[in-house]
Amino acid sequence: MTAPILSGDNPAAIRAAVSLLRDGGLVALPTETVYGLAADATNGAAVAALYAAKGRPKFNPLISHVTGLEMAESLARFNPLARKLAEAFWPGPLTLVLPRTPDCPISELAGAGLETLAVRAPAHPVAQALIKAFGGPLVAPSANPSGGVSPTQARHVAEGLEEHIGMILDGGPCKIGVESTVIGFDGDKPLLLRKGGLARENIEAITGPLAVPDAASPKASPGMLKSHYAPRARLRLQAVSPEQGEAFLGFSTSKNADLNLSPDGNLLEAAANLFAFLRQLDASGVSGIAVAPIPDEGLGEAINDRLQRAAAPGDIA
Ligand code: AMP
Ligand code: MG
Repeated sequence: MTAPILSGDNPAAIRAAVSLLRDGGLVALPTETVYGLAADATNGAAVAALYAAKGRPKFNPLISHVTGLEMAESLARFNPLARKLAEAFWPGPLTLVLPRTPDCPISELAGAGLETLAVRAPAHPVAQALIKAFGGPLVAPSANPSGGVSPTQARHVAEGLEEHIGMILDGGPCKIGVESTVIGFDGDKPLLLRKGGLARENIEAITGPLAVPDAASPKASPGMLKSHYAPRARLRLQAVSPEQGEAFLGFSTSKNADLNLSPDGNLLEAAANLFAFLRQLDASGVSGIAVAPIPDEGLGEAINDRLQRAAAPGDIA
């Protein structure tokens, strides 16, 4: 079965997507971070089908996507700092992990049985239009088989998951290109649970310095797998030049790069290109990909996080 790829700007496509979602189906949608695979967050059977389609471990909870703060407050209890962050950065690439409200309708499976819930309001107009037309929260993890490279274009979704999807909404290439930044709380103290598309510095301007929980801490995010975002080819980081059999993914002034994440050294451009370029080099059949050093600041923190996980030996399906 081939999933139709329809323009997300077409109101008829949004209506058809809503009807698929109401029937418990899966729809791929563009967000500003990466393409997501959406299901009705309140429908346990739809959420189970989503985990099965991705081969995602069930202990890894999903993010519920909402139109904004009003919808989010029916699902999760906001503390004053969380509200301030949502007001500053939503819609946008920021996920907040907060206690579920007592009558939270999100499927237990989507939350992996936790008492907290991850919520985000995506900025992409097609994602906003779909959630609004659906009228409720959608879970939408990246639309790729679990552990693989995240999709940043509609055709990447088709390459990886197509037979499991009712429809792919096309919204062009993702502008940010890495997943959302995830912030949780220990009491009122904010924690950086995942580096992502909203730079730490922007959040810290509001919160002050963010603590990063140790991976073994119960406060750490359950889904931060060591191996993730991985291409087939082996990755070698901090490379100055390629070795025999390797492609070279450059940055800034790198010489002899097969592809350069950003010749100008712009980290926003590099983040937007990261997953598409990894896919492209992987598809060329090389045995390894050497990657130039990326400055560990701004969106460089999220890029380096993804590269380190992509380079880690695979320990999951
Ligand atoms: P993904 O949708 O694959 O981009 O990942 C969602 C991220 O949010 C994963 O790292 C999850 O572990 C994290 N997450 C989702 N729900 C929670 C939660 N209740 N507590 C902590 N982290 C969460
Ligand atoms: Mg993912």
